[in-house]
Amino acid sequence: MTQEQKRRAFIKAMLLAGASLYLPACKPKTPSTPPNTQTPPTTSNSPIEEKPDTIEEEVEQIDEMFESENVVFFRMEDAEYSDLSVGFNLRVPKQPKIIALCKNEEGIAESVKYAKQFKLQVCVKSGGHSFEGFSSNDGGMCINLSLLKEVEWLDDNTIKLGCGLTLKEIYDALLPKGKIIPAGSCAGVGIGGLALGGGYGLFGRKFGLTCDSMKALTLIDGNGKIHEAQNDDELLWACRGGGNGNFGVVANMTFKVHEAPKTFTRHLFKAYKLDVGRAKSLLQKWFDMTENLPNSCFGAYVLNGKTLTVLITDAENRIADIKPFLDTFSASMDKTTIGEVETDLPKSLKRYYGIQTPLYFKNACAGLYKGFTDIEGCIEAVIQKVHENRGLIYQVNTLGGEIASPSFEAVSAYPHRAYPYLSELQAYYEKESQGEKLVNAFQDIQTIFTNHGITAHYRNYPDINFKNWETAYYGENYARLQKVKRKYDAGNVIWHEQSVKG
Ligand SMILES: Cc1cc2nc3c(=O)[nH]c(=O)nc-3n(C[C@H](O)[C@H](O)[C@H](O)COP(=O)(O)OP(=O)(O)OC[C@H]3O[C@@H](n4cnc5c(N)ncnc54)[C@H](O)[C@@H]3O)c2cc1C
Repeated sequence: MTQEQKRRAFIKAMLLAGASLYLPACKPKTPSTPPNTQTPPTTSNSPIEEKPDTIEEEVEQIDEMFESENVVFFRMEDAEYSDLSVGFNLRVPKQPKIIALCKNEEGIAESVKYAKQFKLQVCVKSGGHSFEGFSSNDGGMCINLSLLKEVEWLDDNTIKLGCGLTLKEIYDALLPKGKIIPAGSCAGVGIGGLALGGGYGLFGRKFGLTCDSMKALTLIDGNGKIHEAQNDDELLWACRGGGNGNFGVVANMTFKVHEAPKTFTRHLFKAYKLDVGRAKSLLQKWFDMTENLPNSCFGAYVLNGKTLTVLITDAENRIADIKPFLDTFSASMDKTTIGEVETDLPKSLKRYYGIQTPLYFKNACAGLYKGFTDIEGCIEAVIQKVHENRGLIYQVNTLGGEIASPSFEAVSAYPHRAYPYLSELQAYYEKESQGEKLVNAFQDIQTIFTNHGITAHYRNYPDINFKNWETAYYGENYARLQKVKRKYDAGNVIWHEQSVKG
C-alpha cells in the first residue's frame, strides 16, 4: 500500500468510526469560560450545507482540500500547531480544531467553504493581539492570515496591505519613503484587527483613526464569496470600526498614506508615591490641559500603582502652543523631561514598540469620556483600587482632533467621535496563578465605572464581561451592522463571543 492509499484508508476508517473529519475529537486543554461567555450558535437553522452522502465522497472532498495550493491545514497533532495557535494573551488559550494557514484570497475562500460544509465556526487571526482571544476558538476553524504580507504601492499616496502585516512591518515599509498611516504604536499588533475596529495612536488627532484612511478592502464572506469594497460602499462603512470578525475575512485593505511628520518630540513627567487626592487632582489638571492641545499632539495619563507618568508627544514641535501644558506639569510633578526635537521618526517610534512576546494580561476599555466630569464622582474609588493592587494600570489617552471630524463620521461605523478621551485598564502578571486576585480587582474597577454610568467602550479594547457590548462598542450603529451581517454572513459562520448577530 502506498503512503497515499494508507492515508485514505485511515481517513475512511476514522469517518466510519464516527469521527468528525479525520480529526480526533479534541477537548480544550484549558477551557476558558468567562462568566458571560456565550455558546457558539447552533447551526440547525443556518444554511450550512449538509455533509456529503457517502464516506467515499467525504474522503474525496477532504483530499481535495488538503491538496490545495492556497491553504495549509494544521491539526493538533501537527508539529506547527502549537506555535500557530498561540495568541498574544496567554490568559485566554484556545484550541481550534483546524488552523487554516492561508496563502491568498482563494485559500481563505476554500477554508470558509470547508468550514461551512463541516459546520465549524470560523474565527479570524491577523496579528493575534485580541485582548479576549477573539481571533481563536475552541473546536472550530481559525483562519490564520500571517502569510498575507503583500505591500503594493498603487500610486505615491495609496498602498494596498495584506492583513497579515504587523504595524512594525508597515512602518518599516512606509517610513523610509517619508510616508505613514495613522495607526497604533505597538510593533506586533496586526493591521487587520486594528483598522477594522478603528485604530488610534500617536498621529490619530492629526490624521484620524486608521480606518479613516481606509479606501478599499477585499472580504471573503461567510459563504466563501470574494467581495471588493470601495468608496462609500456599505461594507466599507461597516468595516471602518465594526469589522472585527463579524461579516467575513478581510484579506487586504487599501489605505491613503500621509506625509510622515518631519519631527517628533516627547515630553515626560513623573510623580511618585501619590496619595489618592494628588492622583485625582493631577488627573483633573490633565483633562483641563489636554482640552486645547494642537492636533499634532497626543497625551496620556498613566497611573501605575502610586506612580504617575504624564506623556505628551508632538509631531510638529508646536512648543509655544503646548507651553501652558509643560509649565503646569513641570510645576506639579516630581520629575520633568522636556524632550529634544527628534528628526529620525523610525527611531522615535521604536520607543513605543512594546513587548512583542506573548504574556498574561487582562486589559480592557474603562470607558470613553467627554471630560473629567464623567468620572469625577467615582475616580477616587478607582484610584484607591489601583493603589492597592500592584500590577494594575489605569490610563487615559487623548482622542479628538481629526478623529472627531464629521466627514469621517459620515462614512464609518465607529460611533464614538464625540468622545475625546479613551481610558484603558490594564493588569499584567507573570504566572497564571497570579491572575485571579488581579483580575478580580480589575473587575471591581469596571463595576465602579459601570455603576457610575460609563457605557461607551472601544471595540478594540473589548471586555468579555461587558453586558451591553453591542451598544457599548457600536452605539446606534449596531442595527445597521446587523443588516450587513445578514447580507454577508446570514449563516453566522464567522463567529466569536462578541461578534455582531444577524
Ligand atoms: C500590546 C497591545 C498594544 C495595542 N496598542 C493599540 C494602539 O496603540 N491603538 C489601538 O487602536 N489599539 C491597540 N491595541 C488593540 C488592538 O487594536 C486590538 O487588539 C486589535 O484588534 C488587534 O488586532 P490583531 O490583528 O493584532 O488581532 P487579532 O487577535 O488577530 O484580531 C482581533 C480581532 O479582529 C478580528 N480580525 C482580525 N483580523 C481580521 C480580518 N483580517 N478580517 C476580519 N476580522 C479580523 C478578529 O476576529 C478579532 O476579533 C493594542 C493591543 C495590544 C495587545
